[in-house]
Amino acid sequence: MGIASINPATGEVIKTFTHLTDREVEHKLALAQKAFEQYKNIPICQRAEWMKEAAQILESNSRQFGKLITLEMGKTFVSAAGEVEKCALNCRFYAERAAEFLGDVPVATDAGRSFIRFQPLGAVLAVMPWNFPFWQVFRFAAPALMAGNVILLKHASNVPQSALTIEEIFRDAGFPEGVFQTLLITAEKVKDVLEDERVKAATLTGSESAGASLASIAGSKIKKMVLELGGSDPFIVLESADIAEAVSTAVTARIMNNGQSCVAAKRFIVMESIADRFGQNLKDKFEALTVGDPMNPDTDLGPLATPDILKTLDLQVQACVQKGAKVLTGGQSMSDCPGNFYLPTILTDIPPGTPADHEEFFGPVALLYRVKDIDEAISFANRTPFGLGASAWTKDAVEIERLVQELEAGAVFINGMVRSDPRLPFGGIKHSGYGRELGIYGIHEFVNIKTVWVK
Ligand code: NAP
Repeated sequence: MGIASINPATGEVIKTFTHLTDREVEHKLALAQKAFEQYKNIPICQRAEWMKEAAQILESNSRQFGKLITLEMGKTFVSAAGEVEKCALNCRFYAERAAEFLGDVPVATDAGRSFIRFQPLGAVLAVMPWNFPFWQVFRFAAPALMAGNVILLKHASNVPQSALTIEEIFRDAGFPEGVFQTLLITAEKVKDVLEDERVKAATLTGSESAGASLASIAGSKIKKMVLELGGSDPFIVLESADIAEAVSTAVTARIMNNGQSCVAAKRFIVMESIADRFGQNLKDKFEALTVGDPMNPDTDLGPLATPDILKTLDLQVQACVQKGAKVLTGGQSMSDCPGNFYLPTILTDIPPGTPADHEEFFGPVALLYRVKDIDEAISFANRTPFGLGASAWTKDAVEIERLVQELEAGAVFINGMVRSDPRLPFGGIKHSGYGRELGIYGIHEFVNIKTVWVK
């Protein structure tokens, strides 16, 4: 299937789309460049007015947009509407703070006057995934637009209606024509767009392989990139932790977004002395989850977004089991119903040499490990190619400092789950990518940080 909306809960094809022709892509590239020439000179206070209007549109239509998200990628409607509201929050954050983040910064030197000025780069290509179809786009777009860039969005092929709706939101908010455009194109076509000299930079949120492929093209053309890639985040529970709170957060941290979040807790690393209790409580909670129709407000866990994701996850689980891992609960898809449903699953006693060592499990599968002390916990947590987020649970101040200092991750959350917040930078290290979104750092990714020196 090419570009299409397919309901993951039923398998029903809702709508198919034809991809743009080369001529249509050319037209959009030309329009982006033309729009940039005007838009870069629009005062930031005007951009902020449009951004606040975008926030207003998102808030007023959060249920309608939420339904669309659920229909296209299967997350629960409650979380989809929440995602839309979070986008509004991000738009307001940058509408209110961009002037401060982008104002000239004086620096005392031997010059009569020296300072730093932030200027937009031009058209930025955004290649985005389906898992948070609105949030991933707005997370990047709000700061990039406030900085004066224009955007070309290549969204994932299974969320075309979300992609087109986002374009409409920015247009209805008042942003001039061509400032934000959706390109309905296939992944193969992305290379041509990125290589076009009118495109100045790119950002990709997605898998390692897509990131590596795009980054090599960007590198060959000397274009700036931000990469937000996968993760296999550890969730470390040490002896002094509040176990009840850790377990209930562990459930949310693993199953949020039907288990398909880059910063979901994926590897649960628990001290030997409390591991049985933690494992039993986690199992009880997983077995109490309601799996089913994502539109139903009582549903905790909906379907995976596509049949391929379901298949990949099951292959990963079966590979672990074949090597000796034990299934504490779940361990299979729900074959008795249509849609891409996988049972909430916990694997324990996972030996080395399985996909769990180096792959991301993108679905409701918790990998449970026992460790003897904090040294082993940290070293195990770091033994992965990824470095996105890490959550750790302890009441001990010395342990907290060690975890903050020694965990190899773009974010460490102590006694809480990893999540994004417009006020805080977000991004990874190692194979989780490079660059940052959100906060002041996010808005400085796609600007020329110009040094000015006046005698
Ligand atoms: P994906 O297959 O890499 O797709 C992401 C986007 O890249 C889609 O628009 C896709 O288009 C496009 N794409 C794929 N291969 C490409 C290529 N070779 N060249 C150019 N574009 C290409 O990722 P996914 O499976 O949809 O998303 C899940 C992944 O994203 C997970 O690994 C998750 O952890 C990661 N993620 C990371 C973050 C973060 O902030 N770090 C946030 C969310 C998700 P098509 O749909 O047309 O193939």
